[in-house]
Amino acid sequence: MINIVLFGKPGAGKGTQAEFLKEKYNLTHLSTGDIFRYNMKNDTALGREAKGYIDNGDLVPDSVTIKMLQDEVDKNLDSKGFLFDGFPRTLAQADALDAFLKTKNWEVTATIALEADDNILVQRILERGKTSGRIDDQDEEKIRNRYEEYNEKTAPLMNYYKEQNKFHAVNGIGSIAEITERLSAVIDKL
Ligand code: AMP
Repeated sequence: MINIVLFGKPGAGKGTQAEFLKEKYNLTHLSTGDIFRYNMKNDTALGREAKGYIDNGDLVPDSVTIKMLQDEVDKNLDSKGFLFDGFPRTLAQADALDAFLKTKNWEVTATIALEADDNILVQRILERGKTSGRIDDQDEEKIRNRYEEYNEKTAPLMNYYKEQNKFHAVNGIGSIAEITERLSAVIDKL
């Protein structure tokens, strides 16, 4: 069982890389952003609860997000491992993930960050916003707010995982295939 947390700022390419890695390593890909968007599209109670936060570029409250993530893991108990994409994003979520995996005798194997310069990422997101239909991709102020949320609440997680010797970083600038190679080099050594 390997459980990998893909880390990185909005636009760093987590979702794109997860699509390749899940096939290559036979992992269940759980993207909390995708799950929220699915719920918003289908106008579920969860989607309605999350929408205001997401459209503004704020994080959805931990209580809602943690419960949702646990439910998704529980739907995939025969999985060979998970690729967590966009979760955890706060220390409370990281603690909850550790405690939850422990109840199953599992653990986070490693976290891998995709690193890239903010200005490149903002341009990437604005470009994506032309076709993604995502309200949070279209307005530079909301995008900047997502970076503030990241710097304030998510960046401290790097130390959390470094202290456990579970943190790795790769350069997130390059072709999709090059970056998959860099990530694979880390995973193959786990
Ligand atoms: P993403 O697709 O990962 O960029 O996520 C889009 C939005 O969904 C974020 O800006 C948050 O509003 C929300 N979201 C996704 N994952 C989380 C999380 N782990 N904690 C809180 N909010 C989240």
